[in-house]
Amino acid sequence: MRVMKFGGTSVGTVPSLRNVKHIVENTSGPVVVVVSALGGVTDLLIKGARLALDGMEWDKTLRTVEGRHRDIVFSPLVAADLQDATWKEVSDLLALLRNYYTGISLLNDLSERTLCNVVSLGERMSSLIISRIIDDAALYQSMDFIKTERWFGKNIAVTDLTDSLICRRFSDLGTSCRVAIAPGFISTDRDTGDITNLGRGGSDYTAALIAAALEADVLDIWTDVDGFMTADPRIIKEAKVIAHLSFLESMDLCNFGAKVIYPPTIYPVFHKNIPIRILNTFNPEAPGTIITDEHKASSLQLFRGVTSIPEVSVIDVGETESLRAPELHTRVLNVLSKHGIEVLLSASALKGMKAAVRRSDAAAAMRALREDFAGEGSEATSPSLDEHADVSAISAVGENIKLHPDTSCRLSDTLQDAGIDVITSATGASGFTFTMIVPQALHKEALTALHRLI
Ligand code: ASP
Ligand code: MG
Repeated sequence: MRVMKFGGTSVGTVPSLRNVKHIVENTSGPVVVVVSALGGVTDLLIKGARLALDGMEWDKTLRTVEGRHRDIVFSPLVAADLQDATWKEVSDLLALLRNYYTGISLLNDLSERTLCNVVSLGERMSSLIISRIIDDAALYQSMDFIKTERWFGKNIAVTDLTDSLICRRFSDLGTSCRVAIAPGFISTDRDTGDITNLGRGGSDYTAALIAAALEADVLDIWTDVDGFMTADPRIIKEAKVIAHLSFLESMDLCNFGAKVIYPPTIYPVFHKNIPIRILNTFNPEAPGTIITDEHKASSLQLFRGVTSIPEVSVIDVGETESLRAPELHTRVLNVLSKHGIEVLLSASALKGMKAAVRRSDAAAAMRALREDFAGEGSEATSPSLDEHADVSAISAVGENIKLHPDTSCRLSDTLQDAGIDVITSATGASGFTFTMIVPQALHKEALTALHRLI
């Protein structure tokens, strides 16, 4: 069996849904189809909630959401005799949305829990409608089998429980219907049953969890680009599709800024050795990118792709008499990991260390370190802390980097030759990603210079 996931743009309009119907109905054997909300709807749902909180007019936003779904339900994609009944079910969900917005504005309160309920409606409506569009399909409610728990203020999937619930729920697939339609993104808390989600872009992850639990033959991610590319084509016009990647290369490309799939997606399928294909709903004949456990790149190629995280902060920590650099390094990484803050890069410096984090995590990181160092005595005796914003992380990714240890020098030299200062650099834990921190104003120039080396 196979698992397919269609993103928001793929399910966003009548013509694109026609492609989806064609693609799914032309597969054979049992298939699970995971769908996102109609493109742009999650943002609209959040916008309405914020307007309601601010005491502003949300009715227009709600009507836009309603109109988007109505256009599809009353299109020829849904059989005429199913349209009214389908619209009745969608209307019940829209009525719920109206109640949520009314509640938010009356109480002047928008908790995370409420927002989770609001955004869940996007996938609940899209999956319901798509289950009426595709032949021999039935709706499987992801909230029943994708379970999360709290971890540093976030909801993360409880994989073993989710795994067994998926196996149980999908045991009838292929006998009761050929196609299972499941909403992506949404889940419920394992303890409270509250509606939660897997984070923005999380539908890819839903599909991966299902593929891994059911030991699918392949996970197809249908999106609106032809696959992973050697660079972001909006910045580098010469960027090309990468035909094949290893799991590890694709993980690093995602972790260091490629936007093709949601980073956690790769882990569950990697562990079961299930290939992932990235395919374009709008260009279904294109071969896309295939991700497997093989390493097929020519040994002549320096690396596979270059990515960037434009908004980064570097935290500079200075050593003290009692806290010398090596110990300080471990301490900083421990504190940040205890607070659930991802360190993009860490490097020893002359009299201390540097850690690069996403700019959105910088304030929390500084706070955590300051609190931790407060135990070291007075401000004068505790390690100094400085944050440098306005920098970007540029990464070259490819298993060959590990084979040719001089690559990192070539990469830094290339940037120096282009007049770009490398503030700090490091090889990632995998050994085949080399990340350089450069001034944010020069991040496009840096990408261009490095891309020429591929
Ligand atoms: N609809 C959600 C979002 O826009 C999840 C997804 O599309 O993967 O983030
Ligand atoms: Mg996505």
